[in-house]
This record gives sequence, C-alpha cells and structure tokens, in this order.
Amino acid sequence: MAKYKLEYIWLDGYKPVPNIRGKTLIKDFESFPALEKLPNWGFDGSSTQQAEGHSSDCILKPVARYLDTTVKNGVIVLCEVLHPDLTPHSTNARATILDDPETWFGFEQEYFLYKDGQPLGFPAEGFPKEGQGRYYCGVGYSLMGDIARKIVNEHLDLCLDAGINHEGINSEVAKGQWEFQIFGKGSKKAADEMWVARYLLMRLCEKYGVDVNWHCKPLGATDWNGSGMHSNFSTKYLREVGGKEYFESLMAAFDKYKAEHILVYGPDNHMRLTGLHETQAIDKFNYGVSNRGASIRLPHHMPKNGYKGYLEDRRPNSQGDPYKIASRILETISTVPIPK
Ligand code: ADP
Ligand code: MN
Ligand code: MN
Ligand code: MN
Repeated sequence: MAKYKLEYIWLDGYKPVPNIRGKTLIKDFESFPALEKLPNWGFDGSSTQQAEGHSSDCILKPVARYLDTTVKNGVIVLCEVLHPDLTPHSTNARATILDDPETWFGFEQEYFLYKDGQPLGFPAEGFPKEGQGRYYCGVGYSLMGDIARKIVNEHLDLCLDAGINHEGINSEVAKGQWEFQIFGKGSKKAADEMWVARYLLMRLCEKYGVDVNWHCKPLGATDWNGSGMHSNFSTKYLREVGGKEYFESLMAAFDKYKAEHILVYGPDNHMRLTGLHETQAIDKFNYGVSNRGASIRLPHHMPKNGYKGYLEDRRPNSQGDPYKIASRILETISTVPIPK
C-alpha cells in the first residue's frame, strides 16, 4: 500500500470564464488507481460561486485521472461538479456537451506569461524597443529571456508524463507570448486534456513567480497580437470522403450560425477579432486556403486532396471553454446532411 495524493480539480462558477480549483485527498492504493477506484468528494460551493451558504455542498465526480510527477504518488483527478442529488450543476458544461469519438480536435492554446502586471520580458515602463517581428519561433536571450523556455519545456514534460496528448510548442508573435497544442479524439477527451494542461501550466508557473494571462487581448488596442485558441477539427466523413459540395454546405452552415459560435468562443473576442493581426472581424464569416485572415482556414493540401482533411476555426480565443467550443462545432456539423 502507498499513500496516494489525489488532487481533485474542477471548474468553478465564475463568469464569464471559470477558474480551475483544486484540493488534495490522501488515500491508500496498491498502485496507480483506476478511475473507478476514485470516490466522489465534495467542496464548499459558496466559496466558488456554485452554491448559497445555507446549502453549500457540491459534489465532485471524478471523470478522468492523470499521473502527477511533481508529487510523490501524485494523481490529478479531473472532476465534474454535481448537486447533492447527483444531477449536473449548471456550471458543469461537460455533462451536457455533444461528443463523438470520431470527431477529432486539435486546440492551439496561445497565452502570455506575465510578471509584475506585464508580459514577461517587457521593460518596467512602456514597450520593448524591438516591436513585433522576431519573437515568433524566436531564439536568443535578448528576445526570449531565460525563464520562458524552462517553463514551456517543463510543462511539456508534465503533460506527456500525465498522458496528455501535447503535440507541440512555439513562441508567438508578441514578446512573452507562447502556444502549445493539444490533440484528442472526441470533444471530451480533447477538452479534458486542454483544461488539465492549462492547470499544469498555471501551477508550474507558481514556482517561477510568473502568472499565465489567458486574456485574448491583454495589451488592448495596441500593435501587439492577441491570443487565440484555434480549434482544428475533422469528422470521419471529412477525413475519409470530403468533397467540394459537402465542404461548401458545411461552410454555409458555419456562416449561418456565426453568432452562435461567437457566443461560446470566449469573452472579449471583439477586442481580438478586428480584422487585423491575423484575424477576421467578429461579425463576418469567411474561409480561405492558407488564409490567416479568415474565420476558417483550410490547410493548403485540403482542396488538392478532394476537400478531405481537417479545418481550422481561427475564431475561438485563449479564454474559450474547449467543452463548449467543440460542442458548438459538432452542433453546426450535425445540421448538414451527409450526401447519399
Ligand atoms: P498552425 O499554427 O499552422 O495553425 P499548428 O501546428 O499549431 O498549426 O496546429 C495544428 C493543429 O491541427 C494541431 O493541434 C493538430 O493536432 C491539429 N490537427 C492535425 N490534424 C488534425 C485532424 N485530422 N483533425 C483535427 N485536428 C488536427
Ligand atoms: Mn499554431
Ligand atoms: Mn499561434
Ligand atoms: Mn493555427
């Protein structure tokens, strides 16, 4: 027997974006516990905007677990929040989203590392002398500093050790801005892993005295890029059959439901989707091959390959909830009949 340290994490009730909360439960297990071995637990919902003080109990139901190599015998236990009668809490989006294991999602999470209220590496006053240009996939101390790369590489290892399908890293266009990618089959799998990857990054940054700023336009209306969470997706039909006609019907549906998509694509997106800085304007919908100013970008090989493959929705932002984003994409796809 060993004492396992189970870090139960969940999404709280804050609006417009939830925070991740966590608390630790110690339990004896022979070996790394299966999900079925992990009990429901509870917390005080009146401290997380999920209940009133006079009836404060909320239930944590484990839905996935991950190896946590930062703690001896550590396990991260991702939970859904339930009412005491075990019905899903209104803040528990995961419980009601559409899911289809044959639809694959690849999320590109952009974010800023922040220190003392500024992007990491910014001078105390004003902006770096060097404007945007050389930070994207950049190298060298004066551009990248000496902490960020430690953080992103350590984060990568934490994710891989946890069994998360982390697919890559790049530094982004603004100073102090980075990206990582998570790929998963099914909206729950991909979005679960994205939330846990976000959690691991925030927790890792604590020891560096650095915060993660997830806002989509932390520097406001300046000439510095915002942060997105481009959401790449492919259904079985798109991967295996595709075709121009089906593709065009699909894009017509995405156009029709553009407002519904924007509703779940993250807060303050009007600050980011301006038509500048590699975005399309928030009230417009278009698509284009290799077009980084489009709402949806087709990778260049897609039309050449008979419109088979995956699509990149560039509108979701860095604070978007991947559960809701994936579910909305599935909902729009479901309105388009598959050709006979
Ligand atoms: P870029 O920065 O050029 O937009 P990235 O390499 O950062 O591209 O991201 C590409 C994303 O596309 C990755 O998250 C990857 O997992 C995802 N992806 C690749 N193939 C598929 C597919 N068939 N279905 C869904 N997502 C995919
Ligand atoms: Mn990318
Ligand atoms: Mn990017
Ligand atoms: Mn992209």
